[in-house]
Amino acid sequence: MDPVLRAAAEAARGFMPPGEGLALHDAALAVPEGGSPMLEIGSYCGKSAVYLGAAARKRGTVLFALDHHRGSEENQPGWEWHEPDLVDPEVGRIDTLPRFRRTVHDAGLEDVVVALVGDSPTVGSRWRIPLSLLFIDGGHGAEPAHRDYELWTPWVEPGGLLAIHDVFPDPADGGRPPYEIYCRALESGRFADVSATGSLRVLRRTA
Ligand code: SAH
Ligand code: MG
Repeated sequence: MDPVLRAAAEAARGFMPPGEGLALHDAALAVPEGGSPMLEIGSYCGKSAVYLGAAARKRGTVLFALDHHRGSEENQPGWEWHEPDLVDPEVGRIDTLPRFRRTVHDAGLEDVVVALVGDSPTVGSRWRIPLSLLFIDGGHGAEPAHRDYELWTPWVEPGGLLAIHDVFPDPADGGRPPYEIYCRALESGRFADVSATGSLRVLRRTA
């Protein structure tokens, strides 16, 4: 990975350990040159978008970075992953969009990373564009995770990649829904394993 972009990704706030981010970047380099766009669900402050955006630039495509920027359940006050300085005091709600925008600007990726600000099912139910790569890292509860799987994975083109974050086979390590949708993908017969790095799983659409 380009060392400047790698440093920008590592400096960005968020929830993507460096080894997993690098694995995501490297996996994304396998998409066809000049091919379909990539899309991530769950951008937060833009950390994974820098890893994926760097790969999108190298492959001559773009990354759609989808997030309502109001935080997941686990980012809300009183939950484990709440960061109080990300609350917009006038609105009284989390707003990660300014921080996301700054991350993408500072990384020099504004021409490659396109923010889609909205609720995943609202966008997903109207989506019509095949994807060379889909990265699922949005809401980690059972309902949002399964809904993201159902709405978005049909848009992964044949030969395209599906990446899922926070996959924990052992419940002691974390919540189950990302693991459940990973299993669903394998059991569907449409996806096969490509790689596993920490809690990141990368699959390829085979059918
Ligand atoms: N990929 C990020 C971390 C994502 S955290 C990183 O590298 O740091 C999960 C994100 O999913 C949050 O920013 C939250 O706002 C978003 N999210 C949760 N549910 C969503 C939904 N229904 N629609 C859009 N975004 C959602
Ligand atoms: Mg994650």
